[in-house]
Amino acid sequence: TLTNTEKKQKIEALLSPLILTEAQQQQVREVFLEEMRLGLAENPERPSSLLMENTFIPQLLDGTECGEYLALDLGGTNFRVLYVVLKDGKFVEENVDYFEVPRELRLGPGEDLKGSSAGRNFKLGFTFSFPMTQKSLDVGILVSWTKSFNCSGVVGQDAVSMLNKAIHKRDNLNIDVNAILNDTTGTLVMGSYLDHRCALGIIMGTGSNGAYIEKVERIEKWLGKHPEKEMLVDIEWGAFGDNGVLDFIRTQWDNAVDEQSLLVHSYTFEKYYGGKYMGDLFREVLLTLAKEGCLGKGGVGKLATHGSITTTTVSTIEKESMEGEQATARKALEEAELEWEEEDLEVLKYVAGLVSYRGALLVSLLVGVLLQRMERPHCTVAIDGSLYRHHPRIRPLMEHLIAKFAPGHPFDLRQAHDGSGKGAALVAAIADRLH
Ligand code: ADP
Repeated sequence: TLTNTEKKQKIEALLSPLILTEAQQQQVREVFLEEMRLGLAENPERPSSLLMENTFIPQLLDGTECGEYLALDLGGTNFRVLYVVLKDGKFVEENVDYFEVPRELRLGPGEDLKGSSAGRNFKLGFTFSFPMTQKSLDVGILVSWTKSFNCSGVVGQDAVSMLNKAIHKRDNLNIDVNAILNDTTGTLVMGSYLDHRCALGIIMGTGSNGAYIEKVERIEKWLGKHPEKEMLVDIEWGAFGDNGVLDFIRTQWDNAVDEQSLLVHSYTFEKYYGGKYMGDLFREVLLTLAKEGCLGKGGVGKLATHGSITTTTVSTIEKESMEGEQATARKALEEAELEWEEEDLEVLKYVAGLVSYRGALLVSLLVGVLLQRMERPHCTVAIDGSLYRHHPRIRPLMEHLIAKFAPGHPFDLRQAHDGSGKGAALVAAIADRLH
């Protein structure tokens, strides 16, 4: 058996691929910038893994927005309908209704998915968090269903006109869907409501993505198509690296997580740290350590079982580490049905720290590039998602790392709760003003 120091050295050596060298960090930044360039180019030399999608939102709130608006947020197993009243660009009333989407609707004909409300004419902003290609602010073609949805007859169709048709089938509903967006765009708009200096919105939840304000003159692929000066661009960074450009940081554990995922070889970047994956990444690393004799007393217990450790466990271990506690690490070892000893608790804390740090680092590298690119005197970064909200170290790490990567570019991180709901209502109001 290994002595303590030998064991420690062996663990550090085994896990070193999770620690990005300065050179690798620099390369991530360069590759991101290059993928953005290709994603914005008219005739790129090769396809970019970043779609750099047009949101067709050219400006944020200007403080004149008044009236009643609706929002519909569809993306998980729940969907929500929001009713808001705006006065001078501020919410003066908010109401939310939650509906569960039953399995037969998630998997049945798309036509059956419809909203419910009654009364006067309302403009509605539709948050549709699935891959889509937007043709205008109110035309979004579904590319593919993901998550637990698979309704027939919708892929390749415009989700807005389908929703409008379904709504208008009911005589008593006078609602027009005037904007479609995703949760990331909603977060940016919600952020700008909270702070007008906001120019970047980020989701760190199940998956991850970012949207920012770009100068139209830098968007080669739209040359001559947009008279506007600026546009919100949906980066779709969850798929960053799907073309292999990030393989230099890929570890055996990332490969394992990918192979057990629903859509293999896609959403490369979000699989490096997203809430749906971080628990499994952590588990895969522990599995290797157990096999190498660095964790437990032989055997792997349930560590080989996909999904047996969640991201919440990782973030709770981190929280307790900071507080000098270890109940969750203890529980995780017990639930893994390992024969273990006290020093294994330290191993779990070490691994939780590594996978969390790498996630915060990767997002911070991208944010640093964007802050430098936007060159604003100050940029507020709006962030939503349970991973960011609940993980105790992500925020402080990001604050520290972004400041290091974008020196001279002041920023604030601001939690923009419910960007996908309220942000959609705000976009409906902006759309109303623009038309
Ligand atoms: P979505 O991204 O689907 O809109 P959320 O923002 O709520 O929804 O993110 C859900 C993800 O957040 C889940 O994958 C889960 O792993 C992660 N999560 C939930 N609670 C926590 C927590 N306490 N710590 C870290 N991650 C969490």
